[in-house]
Amino acid sequence: MIWPSGKGLGGSSLLNGMLFIRGNRKNYDDWAAQGAAGWSFNDVWQYFIKMEDNKNSEYVLNGYHGTGGPLTVERPRYQAEVKGPILEAAQKLGLRVVDSNAGLQTGFNEFQATYRNQQRCSTAKAYLVPAENRTNLDILAGAHVRKIILHKRRAMGIQFDFRNYTCEVKARREVIMSAGTTNTAQLLMLSGIGPKEHLEKFRYRTVEEYSESRRQSRDWQNGQSLKLQVSYLLHLVGRRPVSVETEEAVALAVKEATMESSHGTCSVSAIESRMDLQMRAV
Ligand SMILES: Cc1cc2nc3c(=O)[nH]c(=O)nc-3n(C[C@H](O)[C@H](O)[C@H](O)COP(=O)(O)OP(=O)(O)OC[C@H]3O[C@@H](n4cnc5c(N)ncnc54)[C@H](O)[C@@H]3O)c2cc1C
Repeated sequence: MIWPSGKGLGGSSLLNGMLFIRGNRKNYDDWAAQGAAGWSFNDVWQYFIKMEDNKNSEYVLNGYHGTGGPLTVERPRYQAEVKGPILEAAQKLGLRVVDSNAGLQTGFNEFQATYRNQQRCSTAKAYLVPAENRTNLDILAGAHVRKIILHKRRAMGIQFDFRNYTCEVKARREVIMSAGTTNTAQLLMLSGIGPKEHLEKFRYRTVEEYSESRRQSRDWQNGQSLKLQVSYLLHLVGRRPVSVETEEAVALAVKEATMESSHGTCSVSAIESRMDLQMRAV
């Protein structure tokens, strides 16, 4: 399975597509209903607003955005000529043009990006750089966490490798896991929290049997693939100097590339190479 992920400060926000998409209300509510207390959409909403520094007043005025937060969000300055006619055509057909972070998410949209002055605003730029001189923060680039130190099912700290040394830090209050979708689940398993059968196969002692993370990861991957496909579709339309056939060409390219792939999704390069083929055929 190919799973790209950023390893530097800022993680995958260093290399992602920068499309500003919060996710669907129902996903959060489903997680809360499955037991993730504090993760319903109404619970996380205040943090979405708090994190955002939205630079486009037309979005801020719709009541679904925040200003003054650490993460800058703005519309790309470059606007492809073909975009206006596509949106007009959609409206004529009775399809909605929406802000996909507002009330209705399905429809055509003019996306915003996690840009600051038209350049990538990674989570490191948004959160770490402004806090780097705090006396209660140490940033260790290149440290690799091996496991969480547990005592009677309580997280007491972490063990990590740094410049050929194995080190430990003790937590006074809590350990926050933010190693990304796959690595967080992996770290939990390396610490003895996971599906018993799987841990035993690799001779890890099970401290807490928990198999939900694998299912969640699969759900996330499915949702993310769909999200990426739709996102990139818009991204491609926005980025390329294209002809009027583009809308159809992109749709066809996505369909063909998806059908060809064994896992029901497709990569950007597969779409792009198909588009090139179609453009040449036109
Ligand atoms: C190619 C691509 C395009 C994307 N495009 C978009 C987009 O346009 N819009 C959007 O909203 N989302 C997009 N995403 C998804 C988005 O980037 C991720 O959802 C987001 O970055 C996840 O953040 P995170 O903090 O959970 O994990 P990550 O960003 O993955 O950060 C995890 C960090 O933990 C570190 N780490 C992992 N294991 C260890 C360990 N054992 N010890 C020490 N450090 C460790 C990693 O090196 C990394 O720095 C894209 C993702 C990819 C890969």
